[in-house]
Amino acid sequence: MARKLPRKDVVIVGLGWTGSILAYEMAKAGLDVVAIERGPWRDTATDFPPAYAQDELRYAVRLDLFLRPQQDTLTFRNNASQSALPIRSFSGFLPGNGVGGAGVHWNGQTWRFLPTDFKLRSHLEERYGKDALPGDMTIQDWPVSYDELEPYYDRFEKLCGTSGKAGNLKGTVQPGGNPFEGWRSSDYPNPPLKQGLAATLFAEAARKTGHTPFPQPASNMSEAYTNPLGVKLGQCTYCGFCERFGCGNYAKSSPQTCVLPALMRFPNFSAQTDSEVTKINLDSTGKRATGVTYVDTSGVEWEQPADIVLVCAFSLFNVRLMLLSGIGKPYDGATGQGVVGRNYAYQTTSGVSLILKDKILNPFIATGAHGMIIDDYNGDNFDHSGLGFVGGGYMGAGQTGARPISTRPVPEGTPKWGAAWKKATAETYQSAFNLSTHGSSYSYQDCYLDLDPTYKDRLGRPLMRMTFDFHDNELKMSAYLTARLAEIARAMDPVEMKASPRKGPYNVNIYQTTHNTGGTVMGADPANSVVNRYCQSWDVHNVFVPGGASVFPQNHGYNPTDTVGALAYWTADAIKNRYLKNPGPLV
Ligand SMILES: Cc1cc2nc3c(=O)[nH]c(=O)nc-3n(C[C@H](O)[C@H](O)[C@H](O)COP(=O)(O)OP(=O)(O)OC[C@H]3O[C@@H](n4cnc5c(N)ncnc54)[C@H](O)[C@@H]3O)c2cc1C
Ligand code: SF4
Repeated sequence: MARKLPRKDVVIVGLGWTGSILAYEMAKAGLDVVAIERGPWRDTATDFPPAYAQDELRYAVRLDLFLRPQQDTLTFRNNASQSALPIRSFSGFLPGNGVGGAGVHWNGQTWRFLPTDFKLRSHLEERYGKDALPGDMTIQDWPVSYDELEPYYDRFEKLCGTSGKAGNLKGTVQPGGNPFEGWRSSDYPNPPLKQGLAATLFAEAARKTGHTPFPQPASNMSEAYTNPLGVKLGQCTYCGFCERFGCGNYAKSSPQTCVLPALMRFPNFSAQTDSEVTKINLDSTGKRATGVTYVDTSGVEWEQPADIVLVCAFSLFNVRLMLLSGIGKPYDGATGQGVVGRNYAYQTTSGVSLILKDKILNPFIATGAHGMIIDDYNGDNFDHSGLGFVGGGYMGAGQTGARPISTRPVPEGTPKWGAAWKKATAETYQSAFNLSTHGSSYSYQDCYLDLDPTYKDRLGRPLMRMTFDFHDNELKMSAYLTARLAEIARAMDPVEMKASPRKGPYNVNIYQTTHNTGGTVMGADPANSVVNRYCQSWDVHNVFVPGGASVFPQNHGYNPTDTVGALAYWTADAIKNRYLKNPGPLV
């Protein structure tokens, strides 16, 4: 029997990016707020001091900051004819765990989606005709437009102090920025990061071949910065220990460096860590949530009553919590009926590796998000007529840190061990680097999340089952994008080059991204969505999923977190300005 706690106005499940933004906004509005976080408390000074934050073995190889499968995992299969098996070691994607969530150990690549991404189905059907889309492709328009979200993108980028160069200021294309991006109301709050030699050489080759390179938008500080909450961030040292690491220099945006110092000052906010929410509780009508149940590390069960429940548990765990709580009709991949778990999507990446002659690239000087990029082949920025696919991605030379354990480039044919291998790694390290593509993953009837009929977690609850594979559309797109990237690479005159387009089947053991999307999709119609345009559950009006990537109807060619952050602010405004005045369905 759960022990009952005093009632709160708002309970937040998870204290990562979306949880900390919502907690700040709700506490500032005067509400009594508690956040319940599965993992431990984490502070920059005590958990990521520069003295040991850059331990590659501990953090990048042994994945010290991440979720452990014995705590929570999923089962996986490529298609419904296979038996799904539990993921026993996370490697294909790496969910966060602990205060800050995956915002602690992300790269900081901070991208807005394109205006046409938000009306994807209607735009593509209008331009190419209905027959251009495969019959089982379940992409749909977002219920919000780019214009509506623009002020919220701007707010998240200012919170983060994102470094970059605007390409479109209030409708006027700006030299040096991304000419394809949607309009911005203001430039990035910080100037672009400095670029290394590899990125500079890529940019020269891209220009020579008729493309428009620009610096990648990065939530790694090019200069010291104070954000609108009054929190100070330091300048990035280009240490190269960004992705998979906490930043000891207070230079990478995260809940720790951007929100928590301001949030913790509110006496009406508290955080309960090392506690996993197991269920959202509903009243006897099933249409109103009464709070949540959670279990602490001693196995003690607690009931936290609350008037509003905000599900901020990262996209995969948002979906599982909705399924376990019986909110919304579970999706059935065989019939296409139901909504919770529908339209799971991912990201389609590929690469071209190069070795240049007589170049000292210093690849260890890096941040998680700098580099030079082109956006000419993203979304519908290029004519897809006759290409046999839709979608696209950005591509370029990102330099995220050539750390000594994981970065051992050698020429083709080098022995895999021994003196010859050692000699080749020493000779090649300085002159090798990778170009990459980062492409869309559209949604399909047979890609989804549901509860596994066989496997259970340590608390006896069904694990969530992922059914996912790349479709022909995405593989054709990857082949096309990789071929374009290889053309630019050739213009750099490499002594050796290898292009590796994405091939199926999807392999859950090879790291690609942690950009898992869909499952609690937002939409204009309850028949094909779990939440409405304000990220509010259609079925239980005091439950919101405020901005986790689970609300994306499909995944576009960019990293998700700028859109996740924008939607968090968008939902916070809807709750503060509308829901609190008149609690009930907002649509
Ligand atoms: C290695 C890596 C690199 C990345 N790089 C980029 C990048 O460069 N650009 C980009 O746009 N995105 C990137 N991402 C993705 C980015 O980190 C996420 O989009 C973002 O953190 C999502 O925010 P969120 O609030 O939805 O989830 P999170 O920030 O992960 O927070 C969710 C929190 O909920 C907690 N939680 C989960 N279940 C429960 C439960 N049942 N009870 C209580 N608490 C729970 C978790 O422990 C976690 O702390 C990266 C991710 C990873 C892992
Ligand atoms: S590269 Fe910059 S932002 Fe990343 S961890 Fe190092 S100092 Fe921090």
